[in-house]
Amino acid sequence: MIPAGRPTVAVIGAGIAGLAAAWELARASPGAGAPPPEVHVFERDLRPGGVLRSAPFGGRTLDLAADGFTSRRPEAVTLCEELGIGDELVPAAATGGSVLARGRLRPLPAGLVSGVPTRWWPLARSGVLGPLESLRVARDLVVPHPGARQVTGDRSVGEIVAGRLGRPVVERLVDPVLGDRHAGGVDSLSAAAVEPVLIAASHQPGSLMHRVGRTRRARECTGTPVVRAPGSWSLTGGTARLVDRLVERLRAGGVAIHTGTAVEALVRDGHPATGGGSQGGLRWRLVLAGPDGVGTGEGTFTADAVVCALPATATATLLAVHAPMAAGLLSTVAYASVSTVTVSVPVSALRRPLSGAGFTVPQATTIDGRPALITGCSYLARRWPHLAVAGTELLRISVGRAGDHRPAVLDDDELAAAAFAQCAQVLSLTGPPSLAMVTRWDRTCPQYQVGHLVRVAKVDEVVAAVGGLAVAGAATRGADIPACIGSGREAGRRVRRSLAAGGSRVR
Ligand SMILES: Cc1cc2nc3c(=O)[nH]c(=O)nc-3n(C[C@H](O)[C@H](O)[C@H](O)COP(=O)(O)OP(=O)(O)OC[C@H]3O[C@@H](n4cnc5c(N)ncnc54)[C@H](O)[C@@H]3O)c2cc1C
Repeated sequence: MIPAGRPTVAVIGAGIAGLAAAWELARASPGAGAPPPEVHVFERDLRPGGVLRSAPFGGRTLDLAADGFTSRRPEAVTLCEELGIGDELVPAAATGGSVLARGRLRPLPAGLVSGVPTRWWPLARSGVLGPLESLRVARDLVVPHPGARQVTGDRSVGEIVAGRLGRPVVERLVDPVLGDRHAGGVDSLSAAAVEPVLIAASHQPGSLMHRVGRTRRARECTGTPVVRAPGSWSLTGGTARLVDRLVERLRAGGVAIHTGTAVEALVRDGHPATGGGSQGGLRWRLVLAGPDGVGTGEGTFTADAVVCALPATATATLLAVHAPMAAGLLSTVAYASVSTVTVSVPVSALRRPLSGAGFTVPQATTIDGRPALITGCSYLARRWPHLAVAGTELLRISVGRAGDHRPAVLDDDELAAAAFAQCAQVLSLTGPPSLAMVTRWDRTCPQYQVGHLVRVAKVDEVVAAVGGLAVAGAATRGADIPACIGSGREAGRRVRRSLAAGGSRVR
């Protein structure tokens, strides 16, 4: 049994998922009876936050990765409210965007759900598809479709959409919108994991477009109530402010955050493999090391329960002995690398004003006779008024997707020059940027391949059977900020339930 007094929980990884787990663990839960555990967070980097970080750029503080989060899922907005920074929430000022299709930027048609059209007329009018391609889509409205009731389980987004609406819709809308969001190709992305509305709609008879629209609206009406208007939100100090505030409140609440401290191995004292005893009462020993991954003599730390909020490969390494099947499943999660080139451009270099929040580029596009290197561009100062500086535009150009290795062989100057040249061509910019910054995100975007949710459910089941252990983070049930907060908090709740039950199984 867990020793009397406050149990100790170690959270490994101080990205937003790990910090959210620590928040859930450390707060007094009304009616729980037991005091909250003592919580220690271990982070390899010298600063907490994982991919959520900011840096100065041209007199502003700029988010380097995520610059906003959706309010369609409530977790991020709710956490901001709990942290007392709800009044700092700001909605995106510019919405909508364009796609580079059929030779020029064209506004994305109204009514898209993850790039899937739900209304024919706005699609036909947008010019994203040619007349015959639009007519092919119209078949979805008139040709009776029995629904894919016989097909059970998961399928790729691309397969579902291509089968009903045709390849051009996949290539010019769904892949540039949804594939780009996940830095992957929709022909391998799991519909169940990245847009479950599609799976539900494909199983029903009738028009896929209408079903997707109706299913989305029905889910919005019956799902968890959102606390802010649906859309993208950030904080006046930037999205990374959420991390700063969370760390401040965690530390004030007695949570210890050990930065520059990687966890190299997990040892279960008394584990059957090492001659142990029964599951209840076993404790975890964390083998600690410095940020370079080699031992620095910092030693070990003992905890009653552990939350792993790490990239899948790192969790797999730690679980290899204790839950080999879970480790094997996690190690199959592939990761894509992406880069961003952020530029400040004088307004005088724009031949025409920017419209919307940005543009996206289909994979097969050529720009100036060359295959597109860029995947899209976000007009940062248009989206977030707190980033606006008179006389300049701030553009974030995205590069890289699963399977695209071209950015890796370019140095930062080459990458910035190549990406800016293509962006300048698309936007007809007439001059160079006044400032540029390249940020590389190596292996940071998990790829949810078909069957992902089944594998994650198995991981949870196997991990629960180990006892005193939970897994969270972007590799599990959603990679956006709200989903990571949700998975972190759920892992925290599981561990607390396990501790209350005597420390054996995490359910
Ligand atoms: C470029 C980019 C743009 C994005 N834009 C958006 C956006 O606009 N909106 C949105 O909602 N989401 C966005 N995302 C996704 C979202 O930001 C991430 O999925 C999420 O922040 C990941 O959080 P995490 O805690 O799961 O993982 P991470 O942030 O990766 O945290 C894991 C932590 O574990 C640490 N670690 C690893 N190994 C060890 C070890 N052995 N011991 C101790 N610590 C270890 C790492 O150092 C890291 O800090 C974006 C992601 C990227 C890469």
